[in-house]
Amino acid sequence: MSDRPLLNRRLDGLGTTIFARMTALAAETGAINLGQGFPDTDGPEAVREAAVRALREGRGNQYPPGPGIPELRHAIAEHQQRFHGLRWDPDTEVLVTAGATEALAATLLALLEPGDEVIAFEPYYDSYTAGIAMAGAVRVPLTLRAPDFRPDIDALRAKVTDRTRLLLLNSPHNPTGMVLSRAEAEAIAELAVERDLLVVTDEVYEHLVFDGEHVPFVSLPGMRERTVSISSAGKTFSFTGWKVGWVTAAPALIAAVRTTKQFLTYVSAGPFQYAVAEALRLPEDYFTGLRDDLRAKRDLLSAGLRDAGFTVHPSAGTYFVTTDVASLGEKDGVEFCLALPERCGVVAVPNAVFHDDAEAGRTQVRFAFCKRPDVLSEAVERLGRLSA
Ligand SMILES: *Cc1c(COP(=O)(O)O)cnc(C)c1O
Repeated sequence: MSDRPLLNRRLDGLGTTIFARMTALAAETGAINLGQGFPDTDGPEAVREAAVRALREGRGNQYPPGPGIPELRHAIAEHQQRFHGLRWDPDTEVLVTAGATEALAATLLALLEPGDEVIAFEPYYDSYTAGIAMAGAVRVPLTLRAPDFRPDIDALRAKVTDRTRLLLLNSPHNPTGMVLSRAEAEAIAELAVERDLLVVTDEVYEHLVFDGEHVPFVSLPGMRERTVSISSAGKTFSFTGWKVGWVTAAPALIAAVRTTKQFLTYVSAGPFQYAVAEALRLPEDYFTGLRDDLRAKRDLLSAGLRDAGFTVHPSAGTYFVTTDVASLGEKDGVEFCLALPERCGVVAVPNAVFHDDAEAGRTQVRFAFCKRPDVLSEAVERLGRLSA
């Protein structure tokens, strides 16, 4: 065989994700895994039972319709109207995907030409860099900087060139917990109109805003025809293994995304689609209960980390809190995280791996708080040994 590398060059640097490495480390050492963002308690029993019923009754066991089952597309549209006042046609403006991950990949593959520039907040959610790379496009980071991780709108404006095709937004933002304010979202929307940019928004934490409000980007003036909104059942219903996500957008955008999506998975998660349709219709108090529960967990972990000597950057949303370990005398978050399981039996993720500008996140470390209170308390106790 030739010595040409097997993995194509577009994907250079996208080897094993940090999560696989850290989860393996957690398993090897028996450490508490606050690295990857998955809840350690399943979502509502009624929703789980709805999936069992669908399986037993033979609903969704064979290929469901390509765009998603009608029950789920209707439920997605109703949910968006109930919580955000948005109206979508379930037949032409809603597309069910294999999680938000496939929605992102299908959208980027559909909308981008090789060489197009995509401006995205960094630290990035890791699949953004992969999706942009697979499309042959060029990522342009807008660095969110500590302590508050607010986007610098003037810096964003300066990054737009004639090659910029798309803004990739994420609010609430993983990993920093930054939630875009209405004024920031409006300023970004104005820029998108002025420079005729497409906008892709990842809103998987739409129900996990602890401080402030979630502004669905597409609700802003001029955004309807240029915005692809992405969400998912994983985070909202604590079933991250089900991989049911969705895209809502104007018909022309949906048609484009459907074109790539049909050849990625075609369809997925048949019986789970029925269960998620029921989940989206849960009463209001489910959604506020989830948020209040996670807010309490955020507070528990944040206070514990502060007591343990970390600088804690307040998180306004998501499953995560970002800390700075410089206050512990540490100089490098990656080294800190690699040693942490051995030192005190906890796994966390260094923000530097989510950056192009590694310097900006050098000493930042992300912890997930979507875990049972007793697990968080135990983790905090272990982390207390660092400064003892
Ligand atoms: C978890 C997560 C996703 C992936 O969602 P799935 O539905 O599991 O594919 C996408 N974006 C962000 C920001 C996430 O945290």
